[in-house]
Amino acid sequence: MQEVIIIGSGPAGLTAAIYAARAKLDPLVIEGLDAGGQLMLTTMVENWPGYRDGIMGPDLIAELRLQATRFGSQIITGNVDNVDISSSSIKVQLGETLYESRSLIISTGASARLLGLPAELKLMGHGVSTCATCDGFFFKERPIVVVGGGDSAMEEAIFLTKFASHVTVVHRRNVLRASKIMQDKALNHPKISFEWNTELSEIKDREAGKVTSVILRHVDSGLLKELSVDGVFVAIGHNPNTSLFAGQLDLDKQNYIKTKNGSLTSRPGVFACGDVQDPVYRQAVTAAGSGCMAAIDAERYLEALPTPGNAKAG
Ligand code: NAP
Repeated sequence: MQEVIIIGSGPAGLTAAIYAARAKLDPLVIEGLDAGGQLMLTTMVENWPGYRDGIMGPDLIAELRLQATRFGSQIITGNVDNVDISSSSIKVQLGETLYESRSLIISTGASARLLGLPAELKLMGHGVSTCATCDGFFFKERPIVVVGGGDSAMEEAIFLTKFASHVTVVHRRNVLRASKIMQDKALNHPKISFEWNTELSEIKDREAGKVTSVILRHVDSGLLKELSVDGVFVAIGHNPNTSLFAGQLDLDKQNYIKTKNGSLTSRPGVFACGDVQDPVYRQAVTAAGSGCMAAIDAERYLEALPTPGNAKAG
């Protein structure tokens, strides 16, 4: 029986592990097969306090991981198959192994949202991507589109100018959601142009098994036009990874785990932190902060539980 199991190993989960380990709770961290979360897909993180010149996302995760294990966190790798939080002995199934714990911290993060076009999944990895840092290299001197108007889309567009001959940002409105600094960088970049009030209505060419062009649809006029490109980067936000907890925890309309007073979920002993419960801020630093809160909340919950000895005495 573990004191605390932490599912997820982004900044939220690893910060929870640092705090839980320092509280002598011997946390077991289960990191998914895509360990490290979204920071593994970013380049320079310039807004993590304490790194004046920025730090690469994967390097930041590596540091947090070492810090967590330094205090005794145990980290195992694998995608959790099932979680049962119906009793005070929480059960986490990972392949053939069943783990039991007195508390659970959920930090499973969020995953890239897709447009839902038929060709999107078919051509994923064959010209369609949700990760510029992973796939940008394959588009040297080739034209590409980035879909979206948030920070992710601007960051991807700017990063991709290192490789692509030209980057067209396709955004469904005429106003960007991205922060002003990212907007300025993208709007003033000589290799980036914008298609405003425009949606991607089709990605070609499924039969050829690669991206050859996209069909753009003007939202107001409905006019269609074809743009020759070799790559499509979809950067339209994320969905929380909560399928393991559907029907077991209260979720909001967008399927984020509902939390209150820090990291408390609708089940005692189950805590949530990071992007899986945050549709608003979604920053590495806020995820880490909420990981700290989850570990402290779990520690207080465990302290208040009657120990077997106390129960007998009572
Ligand atoms: P986001 O802020 O939710 O932006 C998503 C963008 O995609 C929006 O412009 C949205 O359009 C568009 N979109 C959503 N669904 C769409 C659809 N079906 N078809 C076409 N367009 C669609 O997501 P994000 O850019 O991933 O950013 C998430 C959070 O991470 C934010 O808090 C952001 O500040 C943060 N972040 C920060 C950095 C950084 O600081 N360097 C980098 C990346 C992300 P509308 O605008 O019309 O809704």
